[in-house]
Amino acid sequence: IIALFLVSVKRMRKTIVAGNWKMNASKDSVDNLIKDLLTGMDGITSEVLVCAPFPYLAQVELLIQGSKVMLGAQNLNTNASGAYTGEVSADMIKDFGARHVIVGHSERRSLYGETSAMVAEKTKAALNAGLTPLLCIGESIEQRDSGNTEAVIEKQLSAVIELVGIEAFNQIIIAYEPVWAIGTGVTATPEQAQEAHLFIRSLLAKNDESVAQKTPILYGGSMNASNASELISCADIDGGLIGGAALKAEDFLQICKVG
Ligand code: PEP
Repeated sequence: IIALFLVSVKRMRKTIVAGNWKMNASKDSVDNLIKDLLTGMDGITSEVLVCAPFPYLAQVELLIQGSKVMLGAQNLNTNASGAYTGEVSADMIKDFGARHVIVGHSERRSLYGETSAMVAEKTKAALNAGLTPLLCIGESIEQRDSGNTEAVIEKQLSAVIELVGIEAFNQIIIAYEPVWAIGTGVTATPEQAQEAHLFIRSLLAKNDESVAQKTPILYGGSMNASNASELISCADIDGGLIGGAALKAEDFLQICKVG
């Protein structure tokens, strides 16, 4: 009975498959990738989203018109406009039809010094503009090996809950991305991933049980066409955030079909 209940709760949450192209694109590759994606979308029930580098948002916006593929960005500045050379605001992202934006990706945390407090501010700025933040959290291998996985996840998540409030998670997608699995080819086992996802959901539930049941929690970290199905079938894994495999239409479509 409990298993049946968990399955039906999971069905309430749509499967979401999001591609993170990172800094990989050219006009030609974007054209080909989106065209190939669109020809394979028939029958796909997952929500499908591609997060493109800023210069390609306009191109993707045009290419996906009338399709069910959605567009997202990979970062944003918290200010609305002004003297912030090289930066891009939430409204600019929205201007190109994007509905989502990644915040707190581990590459931004580690390479560009984004703290959990900054990630929380970015989440707030995205929400204020009506964008859905795709909030990335996850531990490094050192943190896992020293038994600190849950403490790290809790710290990253509570910084956001404290700033935007638990109700805001009705508009937030969480991505659990263990840093050691990103771009390494080493995927978390379904057991490791499910354990972390359940922990994240329990942290949300401490604040609000119904928000916790509704919030999508995606797994990210070397997800590909061959491991997606066993990961996404776990009770608390609601889809994937895909890096490398999102650059190949065939692989990405295969993952989208899992939902
Ligand atoms: C990512 O960048 O969010 C990611 C999960 O990358 P990859 O799938 O390549 O590990």
